[in-house]
Amino acid sequence: MKSWFDQLLFTLGCKHKVVVGGLQSKKTWRCEECQEDTDLTKEPFHTKLVELIDRALQMDLKAKEEGKTVVRESGFDPLDWIYRLQSAGGRLRVDAANISPGGQELNEKTAAIWKEIQDDPAKWDLAHAAARGAAGSFRGGYYDFPPYPS
Ligand SMILES: [Zn+2]
Repeated sequence: MKSWFDQLLFTLGCKHKVVVGGLQSKKTWRCEECQEDTDLTKEPFHTKLVELIDRALQMDLKAKEEGKTVVRESGFDPLDWIYRLQSAGGRLRVDAANISPGGQELNEKTAAIWKEIQDDPAKWDLAHAAARGAAGSFRGGYYDFPPYPS
């Protein structure tokens, strides 16, 4: 199925709509239809974008848990990042404020996957939100993510 990041629509300042996945990691967006810029760091856009991203994450996560294959066309997919890390033997430590490598020393493969998001604050925030969502009511310590659905 198509990722919810490619389905949920965000309304720009000019009232045209774009899929939420394309707006991740962006501070401004120039409308392709009318060329007007929307500052995504300003309200009400910032709050609405954060809400939509969270909703798309939760819906994609639910679909993956139900065994569906979720195909993402736009932007960075934090769930894929988590599952790639997990399938390479990595674990995540999740708490209220942070995600970090857990369980064992990083091997070469997991270190490379981990580094991908460490240098990009926007990706980091998304991965954190996804990890927290995946962990659900998790209270602290290590969390093993389920195997990547095939
Ligand atoms: Zn427009």
